[in-house]
Amino acid sequence: MTKDSGEWLEAAGPRTRAVRAGIRRTQEQEHGEPIFTSSSFVFDSAEDAAAKFSGDAAGNVYSRYTNPTVRSFEERLASLEEGESAVATASGMSAILALCMAHLKTGDHVLCSRDVFGATVGLFENTLQKFGISVTFVPLNDIDQWRSAATLSTRLLFLETPSNPLNTIADLEALATLSRELGALLAVDNCFCTPTLQQPLLLGVDLVTHSATKYLDGQGRVLGGAVVGSEELIAPIVAFNRSCGPTMSAFNAWVMLKGIETLDLRMRAHCDNASALAVWLDEQSWVERVHYCGLPSHAGHALSARQQRGFGGVLAFEVEGGQEAAWRFINGTHLMSLTANLGDAKTTIVHPATTTHGRLSSEQRAAAGIGDGLIRIAVGLEDLEDLQADCERGERAMRDR
Ligand SMILES: *Cc1c(COP(=O)(O)O)cnc(C)c1O
Repeated sequence: MTKDSGEWLEAAGPRTRAVRAGIRRTQEQEHGEPIFTSSSFVFDSAEDAAAKFSGDAAGNVYSRYTNPTVRSFEERLASLEEGESAVATASGMSAILALCMAHLKTGDHVLCSRDVFGATVGLFENTLQKFGISVTFVPLNDIDQWRSAATLSTRLLFLETPSNPLNTIADLEALATLSRELGALLAVDNCFCTPTLQQPLLLGVDLVTHSATKYLDGQGRVLGGAVVGSEELIAPIVAFNRSCGPTMSAFNAWVMLKGIETLDLRMRAHCDNASALAVWLDEQSWVERVHYCGLPSHAGHALSARQQRGFGGVLAFEVEGGQEAAWRFINGTHLMSLTANLGDAKTTIVHPATTTHGRLSSEQRAAAGIGDGLIRIAVGLEDLEDLQADCERGERAMRDR
């Protein structure tokens, strides 16, 4: 017996869809949730092969085009983002690359927020510029600067919100209005929030990108990415993937499907832990300033409270004494992993000025608010008391030279 999951699933809540969407309820899938590790697929007849190759018939041809396990991941993510369609990619960066290759051409101009992921800056500044696509970087939360930097050639607005690591928040509805005025596409990297906390498509954004490597997997196991949006905007990205090949592997898609089953629970726990740690850090005499949009003192608090269902798992704070003090703090912690990764069950700690933002000049860092005494924590799922104790270890190491 097979149960049809089509109709009731569309009406189901996001937690149900996170567990059920994308899986056909045939006996095979219900019992095994298989990983289809086939490079190519076999046809019933020459007629069947011709129809599937031409696209006249649905079905799998070759895993660079489509793979059933990858398809399940795409359907599940599209459902959670409330998008018509999704395409999976090998990594978060290949998702952004594929979006740009499909929707931009020589002569086009891109407006990108200043505080995006470092490799995203590199993609726009180095790779795409070689093909005659220009970019202007603008402050994330200053809509007037977005407007005044736009040109007649502006085709894409790209940003992340909240920003890494200061949690600056962009007004997505205002930017969606601007992008429509400009006749440009608005794309948002929703890696920090995931659809659990923020659904940009519902606020008028055209395309959402993901580094699935982070919270969607959630356990630091595999790389992956995706772009979600309307059928019309996703189709050219699928076509790019088919001919150029930055596709997600079936194994990684299967890991992501399992990760998404617990996404809602994990995101709530990340938010709760980060909020509590931010409040606690804010009370410590040795902390100069905490940057977390969940704190009422944060400039983006009201906007993030309106636009998001939670404040996320990433916070930053400043200590007195610059790089030397920050390094002593980081080296003094034992539990937190010293790595630039985020979105993991394990809490990670990093010194942005000498790692993620090390490529910037000190003037650029100062303009971006990345001080030498700034420390970023991507809060994981451990007990809060243990994270606090680890911070206290860091503080003692910072104090006892
Ligand atoms: C990690 C990250 C990326 C890049 O993703 P990969 O999967 O590492 O390619 C893009 N955007 C943000 C916000 C990220 O944190």
